[in-house]
Amino acid sequence: MRALRRFTVRAQLPEQLAPLHALATNLRWSWHPPTQDLFARLDPDAWERSGHDPVRLLGEISSARLAELAADAETVVTIRELADDLAAYLSEPRWYQGEREDDPSLPAAVGYFSMEFGVSEVLPNYSGGLGVLAGDHLKAASDLGVPLIGVGLLYRSGYFRQSLSLDGWQLEHYPVLDPQGLPLQLLTDRSGAPVLVEVSMPEGRTLKARVWQAAVGRVPLLLLDSDIEDNDPDLRGVTDRLYGGDQDHRIKQEILVGIGGVRAVRAFCAATGHPEPEVFHTNEGHAGFLSLERIRELSAAEGLSFDEAVTAVRAGTVFTTHTPVPAGIDRFPVDLVRHHFSDRLVPGVPMDRVLALGAEENPNTFNMAHMGLRLAQRANGVSKLHGAVSRGMFGGLWSGFDADEVPIGSVTNGVHGHTWEAREVTELLGDPTPGRSGAPATEPVSDATLWALRGALRSRLVDEVRRRVRAAWLERGASAPELGWTDHVFDPEVLTVGFARRVPTYKRLTLMLRDPDRLRDLLLDPHRPVQLIVAGKSHPADDGGKALIQQIVRFADDPAVRHRIVFLPDYDMSMARYLYWGCDVWLNNPLRPLEACGTSGMKSALNGGLNLSIRDGWWDELYDGANGWAIPTADGIDDPTRRDDLEANALYELLATQVAPAFYERDGGVPTRWVELVRHTLDTLRPQVQATRMVREYVQDWYVPAARAAAEIVTDDFAAAKELASYRARLNTAWPLVKVGGVDASGLPDTPVVGAPMTVRAAVDLAGLDPADVCVEVVVGRVDDSDELDDSVSAPMKHVGTSDGRDRFEAIVPLPHAGLTGYTVRVLPAHPLLATHGRVVGPG
Ligand SMILES: *Cc1c(COP(=O)(O)O)cnc(C)c1O
Repeated sequence: MRALRRFTVRAQLPEQLAPLHALATNLRWSWHPPTQDLFARLDPDAWERSGHDPVRLLGEISSARLAELAADAETVVTIRELADDLAAYLSEPRWYQGEREDDPSLPAAVGYFSMEFGVSEVLPNYSGGLGVLAGDHLKAASDLGVPLIGVGLLYRSGYFRQSLSLDGWQLEHYPVLDPQGLPLQLLTDRSGAPVLVEVSMPEGRTLKARVWQAAVGRVPLLLLDSDIEDNDPDLRGVTDRLYGGDQDHRIKQEILVGIGGVRAVRAFCAATGHPEPEVFHTNEGHAGFLSLERIRELSAAEGLSFDEAVTAVRAGTVFTTHTPVPAGIDRFPVDLVRHHFSDRLVPGVPMDRVLALGAEENPNTFNMAHMGLRLAQRANGVSKLHGAVSRGMFGGLWSGFDADEVPIGSVTNGVHGHTWEAREVTELLGDPTPGRSGAPATEPVSDATLWALRGALRSRLVDEVRRRVRAAWLERGASAPELGWTDHVFDPEVLTVGFARRVPTYKRLTLMLRDPDRLRDLLLDPHRPVQLIVAGKSHPADDGGKALIQQIVRFADDPAVRHRIVFLPDYDMSMARYLYWGCDVWLNNPLRPLEACGTSGMKSALNGGLNLSIRDGWWDELYDGANGWAIPTADGIDDPTRRDDLEANALYELLATQVAPAFYERDGGVPTRWVELVRHTLDTLRPQVQATRMVREYVQDWYVPAARAAAEIVTDDFAAAKELASYRARLNTAWPLVKVGGVDASGLPDTPVVGAPMTVRAAVDLAGLDPADVCVEVVVGRVDDSDELDDSVSAPMKHVGTSDGRDRFEAIVPLPHAGLTGYTVRVLPAHPLLATHGRVVGPG
């Protein structure tokens, strides 16, 4: 008989074991090996059955076993010690508290909004890199003591589970999660009643959501859940799936996470006394509606005009963009936005102003990234290269600026070391100490020991591969007696290459199949074979991606190679871990520059894996010639087929002539050259790829300046917000009429040599603006035949007087280059409150 509905009954623990509850529900266990070991010891079989899920484990242990454990003094002591350790972790001052003591302008709290969070496989609320990054951000913030509040949605089915049909086609399953069986606690108000967040929907309806809290170490994560009886049946489904439905479904999700998310934060702070966020960070544009809610709040509570409220909200908002793929930008039809944004949803926020915030080239489209940039005074990409690509991609929002001056910076992503590093690595090398230069961590470790460590991790991976290959074939319909061969797939001594990631086109899952014979030769080489693990999910609506997976699966099904190449279905955090630990080489071959950062290669590097990658994302800035290999990219080649051919060819060449020889060349059983690469990777990359390095950068360069700007803007009854809004209004009227008149370089030296001073004078019609409202600059650089300035330097010009109704400006600049030189004069808006990283504007 099938159950109609299922639910979870939580275990009643004997008093001596009561602290297990806190240890199981705070997700800190997921990066704390001693706590994991405790759970495994309570009941090893139940621990396996539960899929290493402490909440499920506690439900599975029999009462008899619980009584036995309660009577065991050693177990009880260990539980108490670990509970004390957790309590100390949660309350002791950490890095942030030290910083804040020196500088009270550090924000009391930061709201971090994201559509997905990948904290642990026991809370499957993510689809890929974006979510796992958000999870790592929360964990690193917790380790550093940064007072973040995470905000997202709780999906009833999370992302789908992947399996394969017999002919290699991706099948999707959506297991239904019961929040009661997850490490979550319902948010209640001070009277103990569940908090219900409400947002208005079209046709006079209301969407309600309860709020679940997950504890990610010290960081609370609030997840909104619409699946409650108070909602109309269709609205109950708003949080059913991640990236599941159509645009209408999607905009409802984004309204809930953004507008409902701010309301959830307010309720959380009211109920718990937690300080209110001073800074709001939107991880990608999906939650961008949160700023509209904050504009509404300020208009209602402080009587600010829309423009004044925008100014105030911008000051405290940080926006991180994650995709350089134009098709990856979140967009809605304008009519759909119009349909949802009524005066009931965000009273007092005018519709035409909302629409203007999301305007883009296509007048029928509302662009969430554009709104994110217009409502955040600080914006960044996720690697240096991605920052540069974003400045080009969004440069149109800052007219008059060269791409390299567009105020979008970058913070290179990082990964949470304690989550992704095998415990043996941490035991051997200790904690990485980012930023501090000491002796290399591997210095006391011999080549033989490092090599043995890599061998142990590879061996564990091979066991996991065999287990998963067998399970996958059983699911595809094979019977156990035909699967004897799966006990012998892979070899713990063979060079192991991993390729696992989502399957959008730009990641080029099948590049390795460009020349199947060459791949086969590499796998079957009698002396220097390679074994290859491939994994990844395709978006359920993307048949193109599923066809790529099928190509790989068909190739790997061939009995001639199936012991050397596998496609493992259902890539998720629980599988990923084994791959990052055990693969010798981590392969990545995206179409440059479409990989914004990429983080899986960083996780491999934590464990001494060597990256073999196109120089894209993080690898473009951290590849140093001795920590892996760069696959040459044929960037300039427009014909995609030819480009794939060239890059695939380079990949085969590298594997055959560089990678495999270094791995198989032994000296007394140890591949000395290989170990040197591993050593260098562990010593230099391991500290740099830490999420704590990333979170510190966000704190120092983004959250603190945003908190200061936000604080400045509210003082004296929002005087600065009002001043800035009125400045913007003046600017908007005058700007189109501002003209640079006569430019005169009579001060050009007689014989111009590099460094000689040149005097430039300009007369500017400011159309009623004050000279202090603008910055007039001279820009000098090389010119080509088209007079396009390149390699230029700019210098501010001084206001030296007024004549004929025009303001006169002057500057003396040293000539920066030899050769053909040109110059121009430009006018930029300038206001002390607008400064971002030395630049002076926000997007129009
Ligand atoms: C790290 C991680 C990703 C992201 O990897 P990329 O290199 O950014 O593609 C995706 N899925 C899981 C399970 C991960 O752990």
